[in-house]
Amino acid sequence: VVTPETASRPSICAANRVVKVAFDLPRLPPFDYLAGDTGPDDVGRIVVAPLGRHQLAGVIVGYADTSEWGLDKLKPLTRVQREWPAFAPAEMAAFRFCADYYHHAIGAVALNALPPKLRSAKAFVRARVRHVAPGATARAWLTAPPPRARALTAVLQSVVDGIRDDTTLKSMHPRAVASINALLDRGLIVVTEAAPPMTRTIALHASPALNAAQQSAVDAINATAGRFVPFLIDGITGSGKTEVYLHAIAHAIRHGGQALVLMPEINLTPQFLRHLAVRLPGARMVSLHSALSAGERVERHLAVAEGRADIVIGTRLAVFAPLPDIKLIVVDEEHDSSFKQQEGLRYSARDVAVFRARHAACPIVLGSATPSLESIANVERARFTELRLTQRANNAARLPTVEFIDLNLERASDGLSQPLRSQIGATLERREQALLFINRRGFAPTLLCTQCGHMNACTRCSARLTFHRRDKRLKCHHCGHEESVPQTCPECGSIVIVAVGEGTERVEAALERAFPQARIARVDRDAVRNKGAMERVLGAAAKGEIDILVGTQMLAKGHDFPNLTLVGVINADGAMFSANFRATERLVATLIQVGGRAGRAERAGRVLIQTAFADHPFYRAIARHDYRGFAELALSERRESHLPPFAHLALLRAECDSSDALHRFMQAVSHAAHDARHTLPDQAIDIWDAVAPTLARKAGFERAQLMVQSPSRVALHAFLEAWLAKVDQLPARKVKWIVDVDPVDV
Ligand SMILES: [Zn+2]
Ligand SMILES: [Zn+2]
Repeated sequence: VVTPETASRPSICAANRVVKVAFDLPRLPPFDYLAGDTGPDDVGRIVVAPLGRHQLAGVIVGYADTSEWGLDKLKPLTRVQREWPAFAPAEMAAFRFCADYYHHAIGAVALNALPPKLRSAKAFVRARVRHVAPGATARAWLTAPPPRARALTAVLQSVVDGIRDDTTLKSMHPRAVASINALLDRGLIVVTEAAPPMTRTIALHASPALNAAQQSAVDAINATAGRFVPFLIDGITGSGKTEVYLHAIAHAIRHGGQALVLMPEINLTPQFLRHLAVRLPGARMVSLHSALSAGERVERHLAVAEGRADIVIGTRLAVFAPLPDIKLIVVDEEHDSSFKQQEGLRYSARDVAVFRARHAACPIVLGSATPSLESIANVERARFTELRLTQRANNAARLPTVEFIDLNLERASDGLSQPLRSQIGATLERREQALLFINRRGFAPTLLCTQCGHMNACTRCSARLTFHRRDKRLKCHHCGHEESVPQTCPECGSIVIVAVGEGTERVEAALERAFPQARIARVDRDAVRNKGAMERVLGAAAKGEIDILVGTQMLAKGHDFPNLTLVGVINADGAMFSANFRATERLVATLIQVGGRAGRAERAGRVLIQTAFADHPFYRAIARHDYRGFAELALSERRESHLPPFAHLALLRAECDSSDALHRFMQAVSHAAHDARHTLPDQAIDIWDAVAPTLARKAGFERAQLMVQSPSRVALHAFLEAWLAKVDQLPARKVKWIVDVDPVDV
């Protein structure tokens, strides 16, 4: 557009007059603004700009010489955030990959990689980072620290080792704030000006000898430094994967790089951090996860962005951490479904991590005792290099024996069959520990009126309410709705209401009655709600202060209890017949992980599984500790049914408070899909009928989904592009919809 005004300007100003800003708005292209004093170096920088009557934060994604709207129509930017570094080109590339792959707006991807405070339109006031140094007496004090000062000692040791800013110290030590203040009071540390980073010698301390398999895994990974090579470590439980990670991480940071470690659960990060702090003194570590306060998230994000971290450890959101010198990525428990975000941008952190490693030309290590079928297929297609650890790292430790209790023959009361009860008793007599796994929290999943058959359901969801006896509440596990427990049946007035089925609370209560002397701890989302509660319970169990642990899959991962010899699995059959084709894979993985808790030290372990289907081939594979045997069976089933990894899926999920409006929308979506398929070259795209998901109503919203699939990823993405462009044009009004590429819950 040439207006008299712009035409009269010297041509030297013509370049890059227009800045393109992407916002956190689904499926909208970037908007044009006057570039002002920004330029191409600012791509990746956060700005605040007017949009309609609002001021919104957005990210600069590009520049242009002109705008189709005309320069005179463009507005200037309101503010340019120069308080923190812009996203680097590598990060923008990862965002673009996500935007393309998940069919999401790039602005939404980029802004979601920032802590909420940094993506607000409000001016940002930065908290000052405090730098500290050891005081004159620090080293002498450390030679003989007083007993009962473990927290102080750990923090002071980190300062002496070279960790000098308080953000990193707080990230590494859970109670660092109090410790730092106490150390300052005693003069053991002093506040200093920000000093240039000191030279730190980073070496792995106190290394146990690696066995041959561990050593060759470490050698293989370290030999690929500087190249993109994806590894899958398939290591049985207790085989010492962590030790392999540690050696690879140490190698990466000794060579001046940064390492990114992704873990499936927040609960696993403090344990791993403490471990790292002892083994890799001097390495600056920052943990990132969603349980941090808003202020902590900002501090830590900036510490990473400004290059004050050698190792970033976190849950899935950490995959977007700004790491300029990334030299290694580790994804622990790579099979875990929590790496897939289940709302908004539905990315898989594992898959984005593989992209980042490729872009950064560095090795990536995916580790699991029960690798995902996708990763196993990638090994078979020679895309991933496999490293196998088939021995338990502790030589004396054996894999536990797995036996079944046939529920067709044994009646269980409160979830516990007689053989399981007597084995628990025998375990306690030997002064060993037992773990009982039941994948359902609460007391009972249903309250039933024996007169009329009424069952209490959630008014907002198509689901029953779970009875929580301890809180005396009925709770919906889908929307959070709660109500008091009725004294009489709301339908017929009868007072005979019984709790049907069992959850963790009920099993705990039965154990308390059966073994009154035993020290019992329950681990589920109700029992360990508070920060640190999980750690306290697991710490007590590790010290032998707990005899029986009962809990959900929160107990399955990554904890060592040397005295644990019996694992009981109470109710697992449900998943075998789930509508979700991934349910069996998840069940088998969980049972192997849970079973792997038993017998990690010198004493032999035993796993007892209560089931009505003991002859099922999947259960037989578990009994043989043959995960790969299970995987081969499951993969051939998937191949025959044209399911992932032999097909690629995408799901359009929609919800609306009116079922009529939802129905009309889904019909239009379905038409649009068939239209879109016609416009493309003849390629295999299967379009399923729109259906209601298992939970057809959630929190007052009716839900529907439509699945499309193709054997070709490229064809599927071309189809999605054409289809979603049509869906964008549909009158959606009250319907909220989203596309989920590679869905895990179908
Ligand atoms: Zn009734
Ligand atoms: Zn509900």
